[in-house]
Amino acid sequence: MSSTESQKSSERRRILIVGGVAGGASCAARARRLSEDAEIIIFEKGPHISFASCGLPYYVGDVIKEEKNLLVATPELFRGRFNITVKVRHEVLSIDRKRQVIMVKDLESGRVTEESYDALVLATGSKPVKPPVPGIDLPGIVSLRTIEDSNLIRRLIENGKVKRVAIAGGGAIGLEMAENLVKRGISVTMVEMLSQVLSALDPEMAVPLQKSLIAHGVNLCLNNGVAGFEGSDDTGVQAVITKSGKKFPCDLVLLAMGVRPDIGLAKAAGLELGKLGGIRVDDRMRTSDVRIWAVGDAVETRDFITGEWTLVPLAGPASRQGRIAADVIMGRESRFRGVQGTMVCKVFDITAAATGANEKALRAGGKLTRYEKVYLHPGHHAGYYPGAKPISLKLIFSLSDGQILGAQAVGQEGVEKRIDVISMAIQKGSTVFDLEEAEMCYAPQFSSAKDPVNMAGMVAANVLRGDNPIKHWEDLTDSTFILDVREPFEFNQGHLDGAVNIPLPALRSRLGEIPRDREINLYCAAGQRSYYAVRILSLNGFKVKNISGGWLTYNQQKVRE
Ligand code: FAD
Repeated sequence: MSSTESQKSSERRRILIVGGVAGGASCAARARRLSEDAEIIIFEKGPHISFASCGLPYYVGDVIKEEKNLLVATPELFRGRFNITVKVRHEVLSIDRKRQVIMVKDLESGRVTEESYDALVLATGSKPVKPPVPGIDLPGIVSLRTIEDSNLIRRLIENGKVKRVAIAGGGAIGLEMAENLVKRGISVTMVEMLSQVLSALDPEMAVPLQKSLIAHGVNLCLNNGVAGFEGSDDTGVQAVITKSGKKFPCDLVLLAMGVRPDIGLAKAAGLELGKLGGIRVDDRMRTSDVRIWAVGDAVETRDFITGEWTLVPLAGPASRQGRIAADVIMGRESRFRGVQGTMVCKVFDITAAATGANEKALRAGGKLTRYEKVYLHPGHHAGYYPGAKPISLKLIFSLSDGQILGAQAVGQEGVEKRIDVISMAIQKGSTVFDLEEAEMCYAPQFSSAKDPVNMAGMVAANVLRGDNPIKHWEDLTDSTFILDVREPFEFNQGHLDGAVNIPLPALRSRLGEIPRDREINLYCAAGQRSYYAVRILSLNGFKVKNISGGWLTYNQQKVRE
């Protein structure tokens, strides 16, 4: 459809948008860019639109000093720049789909009015999970969603009323808050039901985050769900009690146990919902009603890798979906490609990022069982340039054709850059062979001539070509001969029980010490020297496998156990 046609089809149309933050605001602004004629109104029940929820932990931590810096746009800006009406403190109460009207309550005056629509967009976001446990309604149990929430926490810290905070949940928000609270001198306990923090990662990849939390004084309690809270209406919350019976005294509890789609309006209006509890939409963000669209945290979308329905409450997808809904409303052919869950989170000195499927999801899905993974630990830039920091990288790919299924990275520098590149590769359906050939920018302070992305591709491609047969630490059996090819001083600092040490430079002259009737499993520090050893041994007729990721990966897995 030409732009004149699309503009024509939008003439005099009334587009109402419920929710004015990531998805809603981006939808409204895009709709205006496609039509000068449509009437566009945003209804937002809170006092702000388009605020930076992602900045809230840093506002609590006083990294962002002023509230006004969180306001990405204001109603005045929307009016002046986009000719869009924004009604803050206006809650949409219900939808009458037959009459194509919504009921809206002005939260200041209490007045309820009816508004008609040609197109309605639900961008209602999500709500924090609130477990039904004893004491959950005690004063001092808060969550972090809005600027008001962050102001409350700031005030309590600044009044000296809060010295100990218990964070229930080790997801991204909990982690970011742990860092910011510690930096404000607060003593933090983190209680997490799972055996790891940041469930977007596989457990072994979360270990560096956990170590960093502990190193910075966070009292980390894993494998322990919240059973309840102690305190009274007068004292407020005083302790969190875990399922194993542990008790952690606190002055404030931050609930950070994830979010659920806010689907109240959609449900009451009889729109189709998905099994995961989100609004069901097609790839054009249209709900089961052709005049109603839904975007953001409130909807279920397709997982780009598995094709299954999923909930991914992230700002990037919400904003892109808002744009797509606007396009479709204005007659364009845009479609949402699905979500890869590409995310990044920083805790103290450690950054973790991920994209695509993790191993847990692949195992749980059961569909894509024929996958392989490699671990590597390259420097974030050339080792000869001062300050190189290792990145622990895990790449998951299809065994049949090398298609990239997912990647996770943890380190101090350059982590998100590598995951962003791999994310794009996944979206283009690339394989590990494409990563080998990816042309990355290089100067010593940024990368190496073989960037970690290239290295990941090369290691994986070598596995698929049979040049570097691998094994994983969790698959070792007693029948194999374990060879450690590091230098003796490294071996003496720690090695696998029963491993034999023949350093790589001595290997060719000591082949006689290695059995020919057993599989040889090799390791070094990170998997590179052992790869060279694999080549020597296999070219000399030995049956060999390289233990992926070497001693560094072993330590990540071992700490976890
Ligand atoms: P929201 O942004 O939540 O907006 C929904 C709006 O709808 C709300 O303002 C709500 O008041 C309004 N609303 C709901 N019902 C009604 C109604 N009936 N009438 C009127 N208004 C209504 N994502 C990232 O990708 N990276 C990050 O670093 C990151 N950090 C985050 C940190 C925090 C503390 C939080 C809370 C979230 C973070 N997120 C992050 C998630 C990200 O903010 C959300 O995924 C994104 O905001 C979702 O956009 P949305 O438009 O779907 O919903």
